[in-house]
Amino acid sequence: MNEITHGADLAVRTVTVSYGNPPSAALANVTLTVPSGSVTAVLGPSGCGKSTLLRVIAGLTQPDSGLVTLDGVDLAGVAPHKRGIGLMAQSNSLFPHLTVGGNVEFGLRMLKVPSRTRRTRVAEVLELVGLPGWQDRLVTSLSGGEAQRVALARTLAPAPKVILLDEPLGALDRSLRDRLVPELAELFALLSVTAVYVTHDQDEAFGIADQLVVMNAGEIVQSGSPATVWAEPDSEFVARFLGCSNIVDANLQVLPAGTDRSTGRVLARSDSITLEPRSAADSAVAVIRSIAFRGGRCTVVVALLDGDTALEASIPSADAGALMVGELVGVRVDSVGVRAI
Ligand code: ADP
Repeated sequence: MNEITHGADLAVRTVTVSYGNPPSAALANVTLTVPSGSVTAVLGPSGCGKSTLLRVIAGLTQPDSGLVTLDGVDLAGVAPHKRGIGLMAQSNSLFPHLTVGGNVEFGLRMLKVPSRTRRTRVAEVLELVGLPGWQDRLVTSLSGGEAQRVALARTLAPAPKVILLDEPLGALDRSLRDRLVPELAELFALLSVTAVYVTHDQDEAFGIADQLVVMNAGEIVQSGSPATVWAEPDSEFVARFLGCSNIVDANLQVLPAGTDRSTGRVLARSDSITLEPRSAADSAVAVIRSIAFRGGRCTVVVALLDGDTALEASIPSADAGALMVGELVGVRVDSVGVRAI
């Protein structure tokens, strides 16, 4: 399968892009390395510069300063279609007047690949994305998930060294996304393609990434392995963006002995909070405000009686069955999930 595509080391060095008058930076001094064959997820809120970063890598936007290299070669002056980089854009951008096969071979035509090679390649990539023999189907007859597979096949057809995906599953519903993320991760691993995957959805990012990059306002605010970024967010922004709402006063009594209180605020990960039937030994008591089931885990919001601070606990749903809104519970916070911020 590796003849279909192969990776290359991608590097972005101190790239700045500004728009408007007075200029404001859509990207400010962004530096990023994506090793060959690995997947980097770029995670950040709308407007933080994710698409601009992809457009710079693809050669569609010229940076004001900085450079992009592939295997150490500066891409400045290399036209987008000659970069060996495939971009799968945000919206469903299939051509409605072409068949599935016509869409998938589009890039190959641009590259003047002979028709017989085109046919073989189209068959290969359609098989790869789980749509073998779909060449003659009409694009207008596809479901959202199928259309995304075709768009992916179209991106893979010219055997790019790097593929850039801009919110590829953004238009799909949650359950379909949950199914497609592991499929995509498996496919990327099989192809050893270098991939940059832009999303504002943390579950998607965690499901796909070897490296996670978090952006805010044009800057990379943290990068590292998903496990590290999850366990050790550097800032309140990153912690909140990853879904941790427990950023609390470091002097709260409920926090375990040994908590670093020097910064005044600490993050207490929701999966480190345990709720127990109330007993005389409890150091902290809270009232349950809400209970929300989310599959195997359940989010319970409690308010500490002492000071009324709200805490969000993520507990196995099996343990939540006996809990009731309004009930008093003992609260314990495990030190592994506590971090000065
Ligand atoms: P994201 O993909 O994270 O939503 P974008 O890269 O699309 O963010 O945009 C980053 C910032 O740059 C935004 O403030 C956006 O309005 C601005 N921007 C992007 N493209 C242009 C453009 N062509 N002209 C002017 N401003 C732009």
